[in-house]
Amino acid sequence: MKPSVRIVLVNTTHAGNVGGVARAMKNMGLAELYLVQPCKFRTYDGYARASGANDIMDNAVVCEDLTEALSGCTHVYGTSARSRTLEWEDCSARECAAQIGALGGSAQVAIVFGRERSGLTNEELALCHHRVYIPTDPSFASLNLAAAVQLLSYEIRMALEGDSPAPAAAAAVRKEDEPAPADAMAHFYTHLESTLVGLGFLDPENPRQLMRRLRKLYQRAHPTRSELAILRGILSLTDKAAAKDR
Ligand code: SAH
Repeated sequence: MKPSVRIVLVNTTHAGNVGGVARAMKNMGLAELYLVQPCKFRTYDGYARASGANDIMDNAVVCEDLTEALSGCTHVYGTSARSRTLEWEDCSARECAAQIGALGGSAQVAIVFGRERSGLTNEELALCHHRVYIPTDPSFASLNLAAAVQLLSYEIRMALEGDSPAPAAAAAVRKEDEPAPADAMAHFYTHLESTLVGLGFLDPENPRQLMRRLRKLYQRAHPTRSELAILRGILSLTDKAAAKDR
């Protein structure tokens, strides 16, 4: 069981940012959006930026204050671009995600995001158990709200789902799509050589140089069994055509 993750936005002033957050969350498989005293956000702009994440917009829970938005939460992370001298723990977005990834299914996590202009107040941050920052260039550390949610949600997804691509379905590779084995390649080269000699393209007195080059060329292509079968077919028909001409 995985922990539940709630995104909490405090006093958001642009409907477009709420929409952008909804989209970012849906992209990363998060669904719980809590809004503390937001602007009017179910607007044309809001839905336009949500770009199809309408369910998240429709189901967003509007709260009077941050305490209400955090009810039931066991692990609360407050995000901030600013470095403040605080007694509680700081962690990067990736460290935060790793901590969440290690939690069990009974945990209810909240990630709290601040106002576009002024972020979270010290009182609001005091309600959080940890502060999270997204590492940036220190001279330009403040991200757009939806971009900050996007990055945190992505890190959380990577930590919960694992970031390794699905293992290649080795068993699903058809036999003809397997790389042609060495003995089949050797037969092909023998066939190719005899065809080229038959055509008069390869001088049997000096066969080595051309065949070495052709081997290099075909090896680079890593032909599959079925591709090699095509090449063999072409050689066979070439042999027949050449024999007719003689
Ligand atoms: N001037 C404000 C910036 C607010 S940006 C400040 O200094 O706090 C709006 C919100 O996006 C922030 O409150 C925070 O929740 C999030 N955010 C933006 N940049 C961030 C960063 N580098 N690390 C963590 N959160 C960030």
